[in-house]
Amino acid sequence: MSVPVLYIVIPCYNEQEVLPLTAPLFREELQRLSETGKVSENSRVLFVNDGSRDETWRIIQELSQQDPHFQGLCLSRNRGHQNALLCGLMEAREKCDITISIDCDGQDDIRAMDQMVEEYLSGAEIVYGVRSSRETDTFFKRFTAQSFYKLMSWMGADTVYNHADYRLVSARVLKEFANFREVNIFLRGMFPLVGFKSTSVYYERNERLAGKSHYPLKKMLALAFDGITSLSVKPIRIITSLGVLISVVSFLLIIYALIAWAAGHVVAGWASTLIAVAMIGGIQLISLGVIGEYVGKIFLETKQRPRYIVSERTGEMKEQ
Ligand code: UDP
Ligand code: MG
Repeated sequence: MSVPVLYIVIPCYNEQEVLPLTAPLFREELQRLSETGKVSENSRVLFVNDGSRDETWRIIQELSQQDPHFQGLCLSRNRGHQNALLCGLMEAREKCDITISIDCDGQDDIRAMDQMVEEYLSGAEIVYGVRSSRETDTFFKRFTAQSFYKLMSWMGADTVYNHADYRLVSARVLKEFANFREVNIFLRGMFPLVGFKSTSVYYERNERLAGKSHYPLKKMLALAFDGITSLSVKPIRIITSLGVLISVVSFLLIIYALIAWAAGHVVAGWASTLIAVAMIGGIQLISLGVIGEYVGKIFLETKQRPRYIVSERTGEMKEQ
């Protein structure tokens, strides 16, 4: 087997603080990998600018002018982490043998790439990066993130526990993955569906080197709910929240009605009627919301809109 060409794919959104710090680290890792003969000298670091509003794209352009090992794609607007990553993977797959996707904030241990490439060389087509501890995360982040994985598996989504989007995927897998045409994408749940030989590599997760997280609780909840949020299914989600709210109010009403009944302040049949009406109302709205969520998904899928649009490319990425 000849030496594989590696593309490190990195989505970036408003990362002007952290990019100048981490870009050299990715470059170093690439250098080390090619010096030890594990990957080809033609390997690249590919940044995907996800419609940043700051200087991120300018930084990427400068990097690629100084050193052709850095390449970049610019999306026409912010499409979210998953779509940006998908774009990078799809663009890279024709040019390389393996891709490694990683966040640009230095939280995931870049050195774990050594082991990932080794696993690939010994036969794995997908290598999942798994966090061995979350000590550097705040308690809140750790708790919410772990509940998220538990909820996912409880709901029947096949994901690797404590694996986010730090993973090695071979071009062979990406070729098959390109046939997954859905617009509601949740990559970490989709790669296991492709199959092929896979394995995991464990690493410690660090703190962000600079800048701040784009995944506050609100975004994480949305991710947990359906993989990807979409503006146009929001009204349906509001119905669901309304259902929950009404259920809570009904519950309080139930308690109130029971107390009133026990105290004998009611006409016969009042409590039971009230309970039934309030309860059923709440449950119906929740159910409608959940069904609506699926209808919303179908709505988006039938449109088959493009999942990303590339507006600019650096030098090498212009060649097809
Ligand atoms: N990101 C992106 N588009 C977005 C939000 C985030 O491409 O709309 C990128 C971001 O630049 C980073 C990665 O996704 O490289 C993970 O984001 P972040 O570090 O903010 O999330 P966390 O690690 O806190 O979950
Ligand atoms: Mg991060």
